[in-house]
Amino acid sequence: MTIAIPSHSQQLDLPDWLHQCLLARSENHPAPEDADLIARAFEFARTLHEGQYRKSGEPYIAHPVAVAGLLHDLGGDRAMIAAGFLHDVIEDTEVTGEELETQFGSEVRQLVEGVTKLSKYSFSSKTERQAENFRRMFIAMAQDIRVIVVKLADRLHNMRTLQHLAPEKQQRIALETREIFAPLANRLGIGRFKWELEDLCFKYLELQDYLSIKELVAERRSDREARIQTIANLLKDRLHKIGISVMEIKGRPKHLYGIYQKMRRQKKEFDEIHDIAALRIIVVTNEECYRSLAVVHDAFRPIPGRFKDYIGLPKPNHYQSLHTSVIGLNGQPLEVQIRTLEMHHVAEYGIAAHWKYKESGSSQGTLSSEDEKFTWLRQLLEWQRDLKDAQEYIESLKDNLFEDDVYVFTPQGDVIPLAHGATPVDFAYRIHTEVGNHMKGARINGRWSVLDTPLHNGDIVEIITYKNSHPSLDWLNFSVTPTARNRIRQWFRRSHREENLARGRELLEKELGKSGFDALLKSEPMQVVTQRCNYQSVDDLLAAVGYGEITLNQVVNRLREAVRAEQPIATAETAVLGLPSTQRDPADADKPSNSPIRGVEGLLYHLAGCCNPIPGEPIIGVVTRAAKGISIHRQGCGNAENVPGDRLVPVSWNPTNGNGRQRQHTYPVDIHIESIDRVGVLRDILARLSDHNINVRTAGVKTATGKPALISLCLDICDLQQLERSLNHIRNMSDILSVRRLSQAEHN
Ligand code: MN
Repeated sequence: MTIAIPSHSQQLDLPDWLHQCLLARSENHPAPEDADLIARAFEFARTLHEGQYRKSGEPYIAHPVAVAGLLHDLGGDRAMIAAGFLHDVIEDTEVTGEELETQFGSEVRQLVEGVTKLSKYSFSSKTERQAENFRRMFIAMAQDIRVIVVKLADRLHNMRTLQHLAPEKQQRIALETREIFAPLANRLGIGRFKWELEDLCFKYLELQDYLSIKELVAERRSDREARIQTIANLLKDRLHKIGISVMEIKGRPKHLYGIYQKMRRQKKEFDEIHDIAALRIIVVTNEECYRSLAVVHDAFRPIPGRFKDYIGLPKPNHYQSLHTSVIGLNGQPLEVQIRTLEMHHVAEYGIAAHWKYKESGSSQGTLSSEDEKFTWLRQLLEWQRDLKDAQEYIESLKDNLFEDDVYVFTPQGDVIPLAHGATPVDFAYRIHTEVGNHMKGARINGRWSVLDTPLHNGDIVEIITYKNSHPSLDWLNFSVTPTARNRIRQWFRRSHREENLARGRELLEKELGKSGFDALLKSEPMQVVTQRCNYQSVDDLLAAVGYGEITLNQVVNRLREAVRAEQPIATAETAVLGLPSTQRDPADADKPSNSPIRGVEGLLYHLAGCCNPIPGEPIIGVVTRAAKGISIHRQGCGNAENVPGDRLVPVSWNPTNGNGRQRQHTYPVDIHIESIDRVGVLRDILARLSDHNINVRTAGVKTATGKPALISLCLDICDLQQLERSLNHIRNMSDILSVRRLSQAEHN
């Protein structure tokens, strides 16, 4: 049917389904919800776009109607179809998101805003890596996969009407479509979008090749079609005879870009491409697929090596089908695809097929539960395996859980993926160390911004450098990427020893108090701590505190231990450190949450030196005979095992303690490593641990000719998890024979 556009004489063809929706409303009873929403969205968009025209001269509304039509045909839900009508209104009219929400609900608003957001970016970079980043950014930004599908429908209609634009624009849009949107359609499994997008790009980007292939395909069409029809009839008969109900059997046009790619890939001429002719058989069950295959192979000789079972082994985008090629009539090769109707829908509609055929009631189409959303994103990530080589796939996994990444732009339009929460400082160091080290300021989307501003998807970030600018220690408080943090520390280590030293002193003095501080720095315990932290001198240690290589807590905790070990009786040092020589501060009893251990609140306790328990493992308290309070052992520790029950206290690690972002407290853990005796093995182990921020207190090696080297290390460990990770890091190194934590017995 057609309707008149009020302000204009031109007429607009409306599809039947939309007509139905409008009719359902105009009659005098309440329309079904779907029809109502769709009809209102259409009318709203029509009113808003009134007086706007496309480059083709058509009223603008023709475009949203076409987009909604594509989504309708794809089986989109009512919110998607409504979004199809409305996808350009925020961009092109005065309407706001709030208004859309009032009129159509939050779901429609989110879809429209999502599409609007994606439309702001145009892709211009040349590398495949950049294209991949861009695609990932789109998926990450869209959150709701339906946004991508609406965007794809929008792009498909724009590609269909591209002839009205200027040639340079055609090139740019076609290139972007080929690099970003067709692969996205493929990844979502929407074959019909992908094929058409690819053929349209082909036409605009390689016109000559497009025309010649089109002509070659057309030239032999009638001949080919007759041949295929004969084969189809023959097979249909045979399939019927063995009781297979064929739902469809017919020739299938191959898409032109596919033929072109095949010619290029295999360096063949058009005549040498086998499967210009293709036949598709659609049956009811999986089993019938295989039985049909047998019939096909019985009737025509199969070409060796051309059979593929995508039913048993579906493609990553869930595509399923049996493929084979046979020698058909007149010795002409023919490709045959066999699949069920459901498989066919998945091939055509991809992810949309799930919306179309899943009976999921009201939640239709929404990826409502976090789980489901997550699964999809993860699958999308996995699907990349098809497209990227293994190395890059591993890298992308390493970047990890890519929904947590943000994607931002350089002013040149390159996309840079960064960890969630990343700031301009992270960005600057990601670009180049020197950019970070000389960063003076940052503009985000053209605006001067403070350096701790978290970046968002799609931000355009520009770093302003100045030759006399340098990093600030403060940056460590908000930069999140390891690269940035390491480089900042490195810079300070190298360039500001005096300042670092002074700052380290100041920090430590602030923590411990002025009185007796200088004496403490020269004391024996301080020397012990310096050695344990692997520094050459106390000054080096202070400088390290100053630039943040080691935390104040680490130093103070170790200092306390060292002092405790040194002298049981109160001295200047214990006073400075606030160490109780015999008793805990009673005030602590009121703050049980400060205690890393539950069950000893208000009591004096210590961790047993025989088994050195660490957070995360089961522990038991033993009331000691001497007035030393409660001694905390690992469960199963020999020294706790024979203690009578009345002296045992049930205790556990306080889970709230140590879960914070900073690791506050560390515990000594002894481990033994057996390794092949080679030069440098200890150094490699230490380097590996240091890479993972594990401090090593002591290290020793025993070697004997012809025997494995025995390495003992004492590590500073926060909890069991960290310990297990550390042991695995070492275990995974070459030349390592065994790694274990010392059992209690060996401690004695
Ligand atoms: Mn549009």
